Amino acid sequence: MKQKRFILQESQIPTQWYNILADMPVKPMPPLNPATKQPLKAEDLFPVFAEECCRQEFDQTNAWIDIPEEVLDMYKYYRPTPLVRAYALEKAIDTPARIYFKNESVSPLGSHKINSALAQCYYCKREGTTNVTTETGAGQWGAALSYAARAFGLEAAVYQVKISLRQKPYRSMLMRTFGAEVTGSPSMSTRAGKDIITRDPAHQGSLGTAISEAVELAAATPHCKYTLGSVLGHVTLHQTVIGLEAERQMEMAGEMPDVVIACFGGGSNFGGTAFPFMRHNFRDGARTEYVAAEPASCPKLTRGKFCYDFGDEAGYTPLLPMFTLGHGFKPANIHAGGLRYHGAGAIVSQLLKDGMMRAVDIAQTEAFSAGLLFARTEGIVPAPESCHAIAAAVDEAVKCRERGEGKVILFNLSGHGLVDMTAYEQYLNGDLADYTVTDDEIRKSVGKLAGLN
Ligand SMILES: *Cc1c(COP(=O)(O)O)cnc(C)c1O
Repeated sequence: MKQKRFILQESQIPTQWYNILADMPVKPMPPLNPATKQPLKAEDLFPVFAEECCRQEFDQTNAWIDIPEEVLDMYKYYRPTPLVRAYALEKAIDTPARIYFKNESVSPLGSHKINSALAQCYYCKREGTTNVTTETGAGQWGAALSYAARAFGLEAAVYQVKISLRQKPYRSMLMRTFGAEVTGSPSMSTRAGKDIITRDPAHQGSLGTAISEAVELAAATPHCKYTLGSVLGHVTLHQTVIGLEAERQMEMAGEMPDVVIACFGGGSNFGGTAFPFMRHNFRDGARTEYVAAEPASCPKLTRGKFCYDFGDEAGYTPLLPMFTLGHGFKPANIHAGGLRYHGAGAIVSQLLKDGMMRAVDIAQTEAFSAGLLFARTEGIVPAPESCHAIAAAVDEAVKCRERGEGKVILFNLSGHGLVDMTAYEQYLNGDLADYTVTDDEIRKSVGKLAGLN
């Protein structure tokens, strides 16, 4: 009988995260203080993030970082997650490729985000923090953070992108169910929010506005730290449990992937999935390929510029080296698929620049079409974000059919879409249109960064 699911034991949950910075021959450029343009040190970020997260962010020597016992105990609620061979999807595509997916949708929160939320909240608690703030778009990160805060006895305040709060009301209810306070961003509760609303009263919010508000609240409140759902190195570090488990599971299946695919918002699920495999490219000469799948409506990797930019709309964060569309970039409101952040994490940006990976952009109707095929074959409704990875995997599998090539494809199913059914409804009703950003929009938005570089 063919084996479909590859399941590890609880005792096989990785006990260390993998820090790719230690193995990268070319390190990312450092974050800069925007006022002095001098490189930052870990201590400079202590007022904002948990100190341990800051140290992880700057650690370029230790390839392996111990996962604290308390975090491992929480991982046991839902890890290890299954690796699944997508036989039915392969059959539907009629491809000789062998397609596997790592199923992060089985976590009680429905996505990979909880892997880092637990770690960040644990470090905050250990360091004496009582309150945490954060931003969220579709609400996956906000929901994970709200639950993790509750698990470690912290109060959570979440700024959710206004348009997402309206389009996806169930996630704010989830966050409130776990006890978090949820505010639509931009709001009148912060200086940054007021400024943004003053400039643009109809602003529908972006991750950039929500980050500004959450950072401002954390900076202004004693014993309160900010937490982030993606982009930064330490968040990606925590997500490497995905790839480390997947590596052992691929061994169980007796294969190694030729191509590893993940969707791309800020880079944490991509890095978490890909980096443990990429260490073999760095260390052992492996030839595995890596593909990040981003939405055509927010195409920072495929069409953005590599330069220093702020991580948020108000310019509160350090300057980060990234492929970016500009921190003022506003993704089209018709885009239902998530992944709307304007920039890419510094590590991934460097890897893309160095040719260690590639990126593809996916139109939203193509993403949902692939999501539907996946749902109808594998029986799981994927998150709209994950649909981008599925679309890229289907593309690869179709190419394999055309070339008669039996590649092994691995993608990360970053989450399920059961709270995103309005997006599916729009798609099924034929109400979703594709939106491609014009070169002019990108040029204008990126042009505003000239003074920062
Ligand atoms: C947040 C999210 C993503 C994007 O992940 P990044 O780490 O920001 O790239 C992808 N899929 C799901 C389900 C998400 O919730």
